[in-house]
Amino acid sequence: MTVDHVRGVVVDIEEPKTVNTQYGESDLCEVTIRPDRRSGEPTTVTLWGKWTENAEVIETGMEIAVYNPDEREYQGEQQYSVGGDATLVVQPDFLVDVTDIRAWVQCPRMYYLRKLDGADHAYPLVKGTVVHEVFGDLLRGRDLDTAIEEQVDAAGLDIGLLGREADEVAGDVRDHASAIQGWLRQGTLTETDGAATAADNSERDFSPAESEWRSEMTLISERFGMKGRADAVRRGMPVELKTGKNTKREPRFQDKIQATAYALMLGERAAGAGSAVEAAPDTGTLLYTKNAAVDRNEESGDLSPAKEFSIGSGLLNYVVRTRNAIAAMEYDSGVPTGYEANAKCEYCFEQDTCMAVSGRLDQESKAGTVGRAVPDEELDYFESFYTAIEAERRAVHREYAKLWEQTPEERADNDRALIDLEPIGRTELDGGRWELRATGTGAVSKIREGNLVLASDGDPVTGNAELARVERLGNEAPRASDSGNGNAVAEEIVVTADEPLDLRRLDVYPSELTTDRLQNALHDAVLLQSPEQKDVLFGRREPEFNAVEETFIDNNEAQNEAVQLAVGAEDFALVHGPPGTGKTYTLARMVRALVEGSKTPSERASGERSDPRDGGDRVLLSAFTNRAVDNLLEALEDQGYTDIVRVGTESGVREDMQKYRLETSGDPGECAGRLQNAQVVAATTATCGGSTLQTQDFDTAVVDEAGQLTEPGTLAATTLADRFVLVGDHQQLPPVVQSEDETLSTSLFERLIDAHPDAGVMLDRQYRMAQHIQAFASREFYDGQLRPATGEVAAQRLDDLDGVSTSRLPEGLRDRVAFVDPGGSQVGNTNPTEADRIAEIVASYRSAGVPADDIGVIAPYRAQVAEISKRLPDVTVDTVDRFQGSSKEVIVISFVATGTLDSPIFEDYRRINVALTRAKKALVLVGDGDALATDEVYGRMVEWARG
Ligand code: SF4
Repeated sequence: MTVDHVRGVVVDIEEPKTVNTQYGESDLCEVTIRPDRRSGEPTTVTLWGKWTENAEVIETGMEIAVYNPDEREYQGEQQYSVGGDATLVVQPDFLVDVTDIRAWVQCPRMYYLRKLDGADHAYPLVKGTVVHEVFGDLLRGRDLDTAIEEQVDAAGLDIGLLGREADEVAGDVRDHASAIQGWLRQGTLTETDGAATAADNSERDFSPAESEWRSEMTLISERFGMKGRADAVRRGMPVELKTGKNTKREPRFQDKIQATAYALMLGERAAGAGSAVEAAPDTGTLLYTKNAAVDRNEESGDLSPAKEFSIGSGLLNYVVRTRNAIAAMEYDSGVPTGYEANAKCEYCFEQDTCMAVSGRLDQESKAGTVGRAVPDEELDYFESFYTAIEAERRAVHREYAKLWEQTPEERADNDRALIDLEPIGRTELDGGRWELRATGTGAVSKIREGNLVLASDGDPVTGNAELARVERLGNEAPRASDSGNGNAVAEEIVVTADEPLDLRRLDVYPSELTTDRLQNALHDAVLLQSPEQKDVLFGRREPEFNAVEETFIDNNEAQNEAVQLAVGAEDFALVHGPPGTGKTYTLARMVRALVEGSKTPSERASGERSDPRDGGDRVLLSAFTNRAVDNLLEALEDQGYTDIVRVGTESGVREDMQKYRLETSGDPGECAGRLQNAQVVAATTATCGGSTLQTQDFDTAVVDEAGQLTEPGTLAATTLADRFVLVGDHQQLPPVVQSEDETLSTSLFERLIDAHPDAGVMLDRQYRMAQHIQAFASREFYDGQLRPATGEVAAQRLDDLDGVSTSRLPEGLRDRVAFVDPGGSQVGNTNPTEADRIAEIVASYRSAGVPADDIGVIAPYRAQVAEISKRLPDVTVDTVDRFQGSSKEVIVISFVATGTLDSPIFEDYRRINVALTRAKKALVLVGDGDALATDEVYGRMVEWARG
């Protein structure tokens, strides 16, 4: 029997050798693998010819797959060889991006440099993006002038930040776009030859093979471990747009490789179970738009913009081998030197960066080095974080693999997909994008409004799929902190995408954007910051403070001290804010103090605004989540401060804060001026790592939720400022890390507060919880230092609420803290008996007069959240993560586990701290008391709750 492919872990690899065959001399190399993730019998795979080039990068422990292998039986062992039509894929689950293959072909080191410093804001990039957008518009049949005008307008902020004028950019773009239009008019577009286009018929889907044109096609290859977004596909053939010029007849090699990579993935889609190499389109087109703009009198050569080339198996296999080299390099986060390929440094536009990076990081580079290496501890730091971030990247890639490894139902059960959607319509929007609508089943998932997702007709890999943005999710449960009750029922789901399709499924899009930005932040922090700035980061110097006498907050000593510390900090200050301690208010007061600078009392009395140059700071206000950023703005607004610019997407920013949001489209000078002149700029830390804010600098960065941020995630904001204030609570949710590498799981906040306790202030008065409710958390997590701010806070009870009488509650629920053991047993990640009991408990509180809106239920697993939600449609039920930052009068916690605590309930104790401290007046713990008692901390918790 012949097999389609063989796959296994490499356990041995021989030295490549040259042998004589009936066709002449050939290289070969024998690799021994153990199929089925090491559980199968050792099997020999022989690499022949050019595939032996990959043997140099394969290591034991890596996984390889061979498609269409030649098979033979030798002494009872099944053997396979890679030659002829076979294809070798190294580390198939690592999805190499096509643009990375292109960079690697130019020079492997360029691929590495792009990872470190990708947030560039240069004119060619901005112009290139506009030209690409116009290209898409033209393919969708839009008018050239309108397309240019709208796309230049859409890029207003980027253009303004570069100090350019809209007219000037429109002129440049027109030169390029006219090349595209000219080419399209040369009869390459279609109505005349009778082919239908996706652009002119919205009623029907076209497969890529039959569609005349398709712009921006998202491609994911299970077989070859590749992904990418082709600029356009015409009759199943790739068309790539390059805004540079090329006066040679042939496309540039790296451009050909890029287009060939898309051709390979298109071949895989067309082939089904057959050979992707055979089914791949045989022609690719490169469109060099600058060719149309060059002066024919000054330039000679082939000035036609469009250059076609033939795609054969040699080029296709070359793409796979290059992809393999990258995947192998990533296996142990290796750093390319540039010697791996035939790159010519003297022509390389990255030469300065390349030499500077190798000089600073003491790396070998073909180009040589400039400058002195950073100290050893910084090198070690860089290396360990670089490795950890790359481990995160691999975790993202494993998420891709789940797109085909898991069934749709498994994806849905893991909250990674919404399946079985029923398409109900599509509308073409102004600008050529599409709005796609479907009804959902009411299921929950991790997908949220504003997210980028993979929208598909049922299969995101082999079907028709588009990168789409979620505009509306009818079945989204409101966040615990939102006003309004409970979980909405299934309603319309709306997404927007570049192309139309039947919306039947949405999948979480495994984005590398975060990892890219973390690498950027690491690069900027270690390589671009001054040694003085880094001294405190690396513990070479104690942080310094100026004494500040002024009183900023007169009724809370710790809050006042926090503001004083921040105002007086030369390097950094740390504010530890346990739950309910007025952190947001303190932060807003701090920001005001910073922007006001050293005002005279009369200036302060008159409310006169201080100019940053007169001593007030320009402040970057940041947090891990959009929600926290908007809460901070609300607090600033409450304190009368409104000179704010909010940077973020429309769907990310809360409705009432939209008025501060920076418009990214419009007049370039106005857009950029608004950002550049703002004294307070607010954005999430992820946005701080993007190219817009990389153009800005600040006196002080104030970062909230710093305990939830990875160290490089924090650096994305702090490197934009001369000094910083971190605010957070390392006893609440830690940074979310996907990989097993521990390096990223300690926040910068936690590291600094441990190393420099004197640089921090803990806010120790809480305004949220009754005395009894806070007692356990205070003792376990805050050394008993957390206290109610006032007697009223300490003594608060449910009877204080209008119309509530605790005498109507059953006996066991009358105390402020209660423990209920309902029996029942865990079924997967649910406990239906516990869910029933929680519904009864909530009903009791409702009968006692507590409004549904004042009650929250927290469960450790989404499955149990769904189970309880079914019974309590009016009440907010959610996981701990979604409750962080909010509170309710009554909190009920479901623990699910019964019998034993084999798997951690809330992953770590910090999560239970968050859960317990959401309650103001009543807290009910529902779980198996015996199971909980097997754990020391939970045991103490049950004892406390039982009173
Ligand atoms: S300078 Fe040389 S080694 Fe460095 S990226 Fe360019 S070609 Fe590669």
